[in-house]
Amino acid sequence: QQQATAQPDPAVGAAVKAADRAHVFHSWSAQGLIDPLAVAGAEGSYFWDYDGNRYLDFSSGLVFTNIGYQHPKVVAAIQEQAGKLTTFAPAFAVESRSEAARLIAERTPGDLDKIFFTNGGAEAVENAVRMARLHTGRAKVLSAYRSYHGATAAAINLTGDPRRWPSDTASAGVVHFWAPFLYRSPFHARNETEERDRALQHLEDTIAYEGPGSIAAIILETIPGTAGIMIPPPGYLAGVREICDRYGIVFILDEVMAGFGRTGEWFAADLFDVVPDLMTFAKGVNSGYVPLGGVAISAEIAATFETRPYPGGLTYSGHPLACAAAVATINVMAEEGIVGKAADLGARVLEPGLREIAERHPSVGELRGVGAFWALELVRDRETREPLVPYNASGEANAAMAAFGAACKKSGLWPFVNMNRTHVCPPCTTSEAEAKEGLALLDAALNVADEFTV
Ligand code: PMP
Repeated sequence: QQQATAQPDPAVGAAVKAADRAHVFHSWSAQGLIDPLAVAGAEGSYFWDYDGNRYLDFSSGLVFTNIGYQHPKVVAAIQEQAGKLTTFAPAFAVESRSEAARLIAERTPGDLDKIFFTNGGAEAVENAVRMARLHTGRAKVLSAYRSYHGATAAAINLTGDPRRWPSDTASAGVVHFWAPFLYRSPFHARNETEERDRALQHLEDTIAYEGPGSIAAIILETIPGTAGIMIPPPGYLAGVREICDRYGIVFILDEVMAGFGRTGEWFAADLFDVVPDLMTFAKGVNSGYVPLGGVAISAEIAATFETRPYPGGLTYSGHPLACAAAVATINVMAEEGIVGKAADLGARVLEPGLREIAERHPSVGELRGVGAFWALELVRDRETREPLVPYNASGEANAAMAAFGAACKKSGLWPFVNMNRTHVCPPCTTSEAEAKEGLALLDAALNVADEFTV
């Protein structure tokens, strides 16, 4: 049933790597200091290199292969679409595009029933912000410090964490605020209720001093992803919704990473019963098989552009091949109950397993997460909560995180390491046995991190 993927062959791997090093300019990297793994193939929760090494993928790529690699039904749908109509311009009604939009709108919360397609997450954020500015006639956008929204012009300025610093030449109209994070509370709160109330008061104060009439939008990741998987306290997002309504501010939820099953719901917004005005998505919409993202738009904002044109578009918006992959992915997710599988994997396997690991290792400061979306925050000292790596502009791993990451990879586990955290984000389709295998490898690798504690 499975397509033949490239077989291990060290000579081919060496050639792939040589061409890569000669000509591929990599993201987020000092080009002369990297040594990317040459990947020969992938299936389900695993991938392998040309030397025959196999890795269990606890990173889901960049947290996007929610249904795992090479799902035969999605691969077949892409092949079928390629045979029928590989590409077409955006200003036409195309079967896979209209069907993808229908399936997405059916699942998005509330009245987010119109879909603007992009090629990925950052473009979705760019367009959501433009829609909010055009809808309100206001310029400013508020976003959280501990956040990531993408690496294009507006999206990188909205990003709150140090990945913004090298590109922060002109944060035109962007104002950052602190969102709740009890473990490192910006408000010195002692419990979740205090954290929530103080965070909402801080947001209100920020709005008051920026001028409510100048603020187009507040953008938040429903659950901040690469910044650390911080689950907002109960009532926080509902409180932000209420504040937005009070001041006529557009509420944008960024579900690029948290959406499409990752949290055990179709969207993380469903966990909190909150409906934004605009919601960005990408990644899990088609498990990243073909680049696709988009903005789900409320009836009210869609109405703004009913007779007035929306002044924006992309050549490949709603690309037929990407949309065919989305249709197949969403159907597979529904047929195989993959959203429920993510919830189950989290509740039954990942949470108890990680809880046990977290307690045993002095390098683990906190465990956070839900579904197939978890983070272990590593510390030098559990008492002071001093991170295992200091923040810096380049986000480079220090010796401790590098040693931990290397230990994972050596054992056959591919981790998602960022700053002082390792994220546990396997495909939602990962079996219990695979997850347990990964947890055992993670457990062993954490012994290396423990050596760096006080
Ligand atoms: N928003 C969030 C929450 C993300 O996690 C990401 C990517 N990690 C983006 C936006 C940007 O998406 P892309 O890389 O597809 O542009």
